[in-house]
Amino acid sequence: MGRPLMRIPYTDLLAPPTTIPADAHTLTGAVNALRRFFAEPPPAHLPPSTLVLSGAGLSVASGLADYRGPKGTYRVNKSYRPIYHHEFLNSHEARKRYWARSFLGWSSLHKAVPNPGHYAIKHLGELGLVRSVITQNVDSFHPKAHPAVPTLELHGYLRSTVCTTCRTEFPRDEFQEQLARLNPRWAALLKEALESGALDTEDTDERKFKGLKTNPDGDVDLPDAPYTTFRYPPCPKCLSHPPVQPDGHKHVVEVDAEGAWSLPSTGGILKPAVVMFGESIAGSVKTAAEQAVDSAGKLLVLGTSLATYSAWRLAKRANDRGMPMAIINMGGVRGEDQFFTNLSPRQQGEQGVRVELATHELLPALVSHLRQDAHHVAQGPASGSVRENIDAFKDMLS
Ligand SMILES: [Zn+2]
Repeated sequence: MGRPLMRIPYTDLLAPPTTIPADAHTLTGAVNALRRFFAEPPPAHLPPSTLVLSGAGLSVASGLADYRGPKGTYRVNKSYRPIYHHEFLNSHEARKRYWARSFLGWSSLHKAVPNPGHYAIKHLGELGLVRSVITQNVDSFHPKAHPAVPTLELHGYLRSTVCTTCRTEFPRDEFQEQLARLNPRWAALLKEALESGALDTEDTDERKFKGLKTNPDGDVDLPDAPYTTFRYPPCPKCLSHPPVQPDGHKHVVEVDAEGAWSLPSTGGILKPAVVMFGESIAGSVKTAAEQAVDSAGKLLVLGTSLATYSAWRLAKRANDRGMPMAIINMGGVRGEDQFFTNLSPRQQGEQGVRVELATHELLPALVSHLRQDAHHVAQGPASGSVRENIDAFKDMLS
């Protein structure tokens, strides 16, 4: 059996979730449930650390669209269809279209910054509660917000391009400058769009009115745009030293007068350093993700419906290992019922939490309470049932 390919298995909307525990539908209820989740040591055979698994919902508060949230791409932009890996590799025209849209989308993505949800993970790391993160997001917000808590970017990252022939990576920023130089009319259009504010607004209706739709992959729909005029540069390394193909012949890498990749080139094609639909996740990344699950005791799922198989199977793996799970996501999550089948009806968050609240509001509130809890631990004795929770918290910190 080959490696699983990135694909879109679920574009249908998922059933709304059942809140767990029942009083966790308010901010206070959810914070308390999550405090218990963190305070309770994991089952005896598991390590005392929590792994975060995140998705596009976490970046919504940074102004990026998600896929299935209330204003998600699959709801707002019904005709949205991402490019497939084989199309990108095999079609010069498809690449022109991809890079034109990416060229227009890059500046908004590049200006966007991590939000309080990402910084809360930094603080959970400082409290010793979260050790590592696996994200499906390609926006680089996790490594920016919490460089000390390691992030595995399951589906790659938009900050680099990668050569599909020699695998060298290059900064996307510099690539953007090259695209502007090769496509002066598009650069003028982009300047105009930026000045009119069409790319700045987070208001989906306003964007639609201005004829633009930005998608989570950082590209922009521009109806009737002459994509075929768009030009993109080759890998500079392959251009200067065309590599040898498996059949022993040298790759052809040719450019036009201005330096744009041109046919009949066979190599030196740059691609965003993300896993496209229909592309396999690198074996090393897949293994590292499995190891991250296997070395954690609990799983905190943030802003993802787990609709992508590569993410869902990690949550399933955690569940199979008996890891308690907390899910914070707007909207349903693929197969979530089976994650919570063995909870005691009396549990108040120690064994599992499922809430439907915005991560950028809930997580900072949680951090502020966890800091107080940690402070109380440092201050000495408490009493009653609070005492028990604090002891558990202390065990976890030691
Ligand atoms: Zn190359």
